[in-house]
Amino acid sequence: MSAFLEGKVLSVHHWTDTLFSFTTTRDEALRFKNGHFIMIGLPVDGKPLLRAYSVASANYEDHLEFLSIKVPNGPLTSRLQHIKVGDSIIIGRKPTGTLVLDYLLPGKRLYLLSTGTGLAPFLSITRDPETYEKYDEVILVHGVRTVAELAYYDLFTKDLKNHEYLGEMVTNQLKYYPTVTREDFVNRGRITQHIETGKLFEDLGVPPLNPAEDRVMICGSPDMLRDLKAMVEARGFVEGNTSTPGDFVIERAFAEQ
Ligand SMILES: Cc1cc2nc3c(=O)[nH]c(=O)nc-3n(C[C@H](O)[C@H](O)[C@H](O)COP(=O)(O)OP(=O)(O)OC[C@H]3O[C@@H](n4cnc5c(N)ncnc54)[C@H](O)[C@@H]3O)c2cc1C
Repeated sequence: MSAFLEGKVLSVHHWTDTLFSFTTTRDEALRFKNGHFIMIGLPVDGKPLLRAYSVASANYEDHLEFLSIKVPNGPLTSRLQHIKVGDSIIIGRKPTGTLVLDYLLPGKRLYLLSTGTGLAPFLSITRDPETYEKYDEVILVHGVRTVAELAYYDLFTKDLKNHEYLGEMVTNQLKYYPTVTREDFVNRGRITQHIETGKLFEDLGVPPLNPAEDRVMICGSPDMLRDLKAMVEARGFVEGNTSTPGDFVIERAFAEQ
């Protein structure tokens, strides 16, 4: 048995000159939990060049979807950004990760806090009906630098609300809160600021974060994770992991070199 599976590219969408997403076929052998990441890549000089990627599609869909950065001179993404429909992608066999509903204790509200491509695992989780069965409210926060980087804005403001199966749950239970740091926008600033000032909770009409009711998943840059982890821990939240569920879980959206 090969160590890898193959995915054929079905579609590619370029959001900006630094951000794109694509879909591939899904091998029947690939099973994953919503929120998981897997290794994907391309052959380079006859060897697989692989990087970790969150699966953005939900695990009931028959295709895979990924949201990707384009790193200038990045070993993988300088190549991956040029993929076309019909090209082959190498896909690992071992999905894993901590951003999984099972690793959180039951609660009333689920916060999904993301920056940049950290949105990817939450695209999967917000398309999972179980998310809406387990939580009364699901609050998706996406922080980016520019308005153009608000990938999937239309999905959350329009398309998911009209989805055949998820539409009603999304309309009643999902609150989407995009925020932009470097341009004018309805919500301006960092996620940490919106939590610290209470603006996030005022705008959404919910009580401030508290571990008695709220559960939190965090996915972003190493700095964002450090700051938000400290903030929720200061409020009494206990981190969960794959063996012990907790009040919050985190995953890096990428590693610093
Ligand atoms: C658990 C996990 C999940 C990940 N999921 C995704 C995902 O869903 N989508 C995705 O695009 N990347 C994701 N990454 C990052 C990914 O693995 C690669 O780093 C990225 O594809 C760039 O690959 P590269 O070979 O071009 O450059 P690399 O040599 O891997 O990265 C070079 C530098 O670029 C910066 N960088 C890398 N990735 C990002 C990013 N996503 N956003 C901002 N800066 C970045 C970092 O400073 C890094 O040191 C994930 C990483 C981890 C650890």
